[in-house]
Amino acid sequence: MSSTAESTEVETTRASDVAPESWTVEDAAALYRVAEWGDRFFLVSESGHAAVRVGREHGDQVIDIQAVVEDLRARNVSFPCLLRFHDVLRARVERVNAAFANAIEEAEYPGRYQGVYPIKVNQLHEVVEEVLDAGRPFRMGLECGSKTELVATLPHLEDDETLLICNGVKDRVMLSLILAGQQLGKRVIPVMEKFSEAERYLALAAELGQAPRLGVRVRLDTEGAGRWAESGSHQSKFGLSIPELVALSARLRDAGQLEAIELLHFHIGSQVEDVNVVKRAAREIAHVYAQLVQRGARIGFIDVGGGLGVNYDAGYSDEEGGVNYSLQEYANAVVFAVKEVCDAQEVPAPTLVSESGRAITAHHSVLIVEVLETHGKGQIDPGWTLDEDDHQCIAELSAALDWARELPAESKPTSLLEVFHDAQEGKKQADALFGYGYLSIEDKALAEQLYWSVCRAVQSRAENLDPAELPAELRDLGDQVVDQYLCNFSVFQSILDHWAIGQRFPIMPIDHLDERPTRRAVLVDLTCDSDGKVGRYVSGAPEKDYLPLHAPGDGERYFLGFFLMGAYQDIMGDAHNLFGRVPEAHIYADEGEPGGYYVEKIIEGTSIQDMLAQVQYFPSDLKRRMSELIRRKTEAGVLRPRAGVELLERYMACFPSGTYLEPTAGDPTLARG
Ligand SMILES: *Cc1c(COP(=O)(O)O)cnc(C)c1O
Repeated sequence: MSSTAESTEVETTRASDVAPESWTVEDAAALYRVAEWGDRFFLVSESGHAAVRVGREHGDQVIDIQAVVEDLRARNVSFPCLLRFHDVLRARVERVNAAFANAIEEAEYPGRYQGVYPIKVNQLHEVVEEVLDAGRPFRMGLECGSKTELVATLPHLEDDETLLICNGVKDRVMLSLILAGQQLGKRVIPVMEKFSEAERYLALAAELGQAPRLGVRVRLDTEGAGRWAESGSHQSKFGLSIPELVALSARLRDAGQLEAIELLHFHIGSQVEDVNVVKRAAREIAHVYAQLVQRGARIGFIDVGGGLGVNYDAGYSDEEGGVNYSLQEYANAVVFAVKEVCDAQEVPAPTLVSESGRAITAHHSVLIVEVLETHGKGQIDPGWTLDEDDHQCIAELSAALDWARELPAESKPTSLLEVFHDAQEGKKQADALFGYGYLSIEDKALAEQLYWSVCRAVQSRAENLDPAELPAELRDLGDQVVDQYLCNFSVFQSILDHWAIGQRFPIMPIDHLDERPTRRAVLVDLTCDSDGKVGRYVSGAPEKDYLPLHAPGDGERYFLGFFLMGAYQDIMGDAHNLFGRVPEAHIYADEGEPGGYYVEKIIEGTSIQDMLAQVQYFPSDLKRRMSELIRRKTEAGVLRPRAGVELLERYMACFPSGTYLEPTAGDPTLARG
């Protein structure tokens, strides 16, 4: 894209000095950092589509995500839509179990590993059932953290050896339900979060004449690292301190019930960045275990909680959003640390439990979001030429633009600055003249378009410079020439963690990946909230506050994939502006089907009616009110009765529809600014 492209409106990227043909799908994969976060599941196909690799034992089976979206569109599924790839979920369950199996073999650890899935990460019934099914060969169990989660999980314990770990603060109802599960012969282990909770549990067990069996969450000295650093240590709101644990075991010993303690637990927070923290915590809890066992306790399990991280971006660097270890290194850290202590203290090796949630579910779901409109800073029409009657300030801006277009791709910062300053001055003059009434509104519009065109031309050359050498003015310019991409979704419903804790999620187009993206986009959502936008991105571009994207063609629908959406986002999303849950499609790989998959189920999104009911508006009442408004107008003769009936029908037709926008074929296309 050399001189010809420069006279068009697309001048945003370093693309401008390289021929467009030189862009490959490998470049796209590098730009969107697919290798870093894709975990070998996601890739860019030869045809420039986002794709997911689902083949497990049988090689390299790939599902084209763009094809799935086409398929769903043909079935009238509306977007945004969440795609769940059940094969990815199963593969993650297998990988976690395989990592522990490898570590156990390598360490010659005499004990076993038996994981549980904490359902708070994604409680969707299909997800939990899939995890249990894929985890059956490994006796994978569940973890619950509330009464409702306990009610949901208890009936899923088919095998008596499968664990159900009950964390969270428990009331009498919850404790008695746990005892019911134990009476049923199930391995339900309540983890005592407080000393008083243990007292209440023991009293209730005695009342019911059952032998108590419990776990204890221990407050460790090891401080967590990262965002949830306080979850494990002294400041944690949960867990028994060492003095409390000593008091509890003395009490149980006196009652002849020391064997009641079956499990020791810690949880040092989610997305632990540093594997050494895991190692230290595992070693510390192993020492607590060894000492209690040496005093006659018969603890069967050490539970290392959650925290196994996922690379949202960084690969193995220390950048934000990354972790410094692989899944295998995590498993090794736990197994070797416990083994070392057990060997030294000559105590039997306990069964190791982990409660990995994020690492199990994050990868399996992809949110598909449509770009509805793009809005850029006005550009000058490529065919525009200066007229000799044009105002002096317009002539100056026009000269600046001519100069900017002639600058070679490899220009020095000083010449870029010079052109930019000229344009700045021209725009300042135009603004001042307009302010005094000496410039027409049409000329002001022209001045702005010329100014932004200069900025884009300068910006595209500045991108070829080393960011470290860039003068501050040029760096700021980069932030100003971004385009807003209005997207059909709500940040608060679908990526709450982005708003709440600045979590970055990988986002890339699912099509056009064989074309060079030419725009710097900032994604904004449908909510009337200035926070309803994506502010930080995963990309190989030097700045992370925009995402390089394509300029969608007129009339074309442009879809983005938001990846690694499977952990926490589904359930934590909220109803800001009454945008509801998005529809979802459950996809299974099947080599015998066209495209190598089938859609097993489509779950509809929340309807307007359901959303309204949550805040106590009901169709009958709303209809009565609307009818009344219409009746008054027809009685007053301002509205014909037939029109009134039609208005009411139009209103009532909204109730069953979805809460997101429905772009309809034939709409004058989505404005492309
Ligand atoms: C949240 C939580 C988990 C899950 O943590 P991940 O980091 O998602 O694996 C596990 N155990 C407990 C006690 C939790 O509170």
